[in-house]
Amino acid sequence: MSTSGAGARRVAVVTGAGSGIGSACAERLAADGNCVAVVDRDPDAARLVADRITIEGGVATAYGADVSDAREVTATVDRIVADLGPVGILVNNAGILRDAMLYKLPEEDWDAVIDVHLKGAFLFSKAAQRSMVEHRHGRIVNMSSTSALGNRGQANYAAAKAGIQGFTRTLALELGPFGITVNAIGPGFIETAMTRSVAERTGGSFEAMKERMAAAVATRRTGLPADIARAVSFLTAEDAGFITGQCLYVDGGLTLPGVRA
Ligand code: NAD
Repeated sequence: MSTSGAGARRVAVVTGAGSGIGSACAERLAADGNCVAVVDRDPDAARLVADRITIEGGVATAYGADVSDAREVTATVDRIVADLGPVGILVNNAGILRDAMLYKLPEEDWDAVIDVHLKGAFLFSKAAQRSMVEHRHGRIVNMSSTSALGNRGQANYAAAKAGIQGFTRTLALELGPFGITVNAIGPGFIETAMTRSVAERTGGSFEAMKERMAAAVATRRTGLPADIARAVSFLTAEDAGFITGQCLYVDGGLTLPGVRA
């Protein structure tokens, strides 16, 4: 693995890094020269990703934690700081889907989605900002979604992802004076276990779904986890310190007027 990062090695924490977009972000941040804390509620998945990074010449350690559990988050960030050093980069990426139209959406599925995406980002950011403020440097990237703009059957998810954008802009204001930038990424359709599960649940094939989604966007292809990892690498770079409070849609043009299906 090459170490192409321009700056000093930072400790980079990626949540939900046991799979999909999170694992690609962890690999990319390791390739950028950072020391990566691979966090997932599935500790075996986190370990596999950390092992893969290590085998390829990077530096990574796995941590099992549920991002929506305040005590687990505090204990995990404390362990990361003790094991690896102060947190310099945080990617709040962990996520779940509990899709249903409003009239069928159970309260517990509303709570579960808000808890993982929104409360999880709050808890991890609150715990990680301590070392960032102390060292007057930090990069936080929150995973939003094109669904923040509204998507049928995703009232809980859209609310969480829109909330992430307001959260991002507010943290950018509060933490900017301490050398910390806070941005969001809004992925479009990315090929992961999450989107595969949507195809399975709706009874269609994943290939047909990908074809349909590709036809609806400007790039005529669906996204890959590496497409999102590229944007994370950009926003967390040492020389990206003047970019803050933004949401970068990485969606093949899905959100362009006249393109959205
Ligand atoms: P994924 O299902 O492949 O990965 C999600 C990871 O998060 C899994 O490893 C899972 O174990 C972990 N996770 C779930 N709940 C957790 C919790 N409470 N604590 C810790 N870890 C937890 O999904 P993905 O497609 O890679 O999605 C990653 C992020 O990107 C999510 O926030 C998702 O909403 C967002 N996103 C994905 C797409 C897409 O098309 N795939 C589009 C827009 C946004």
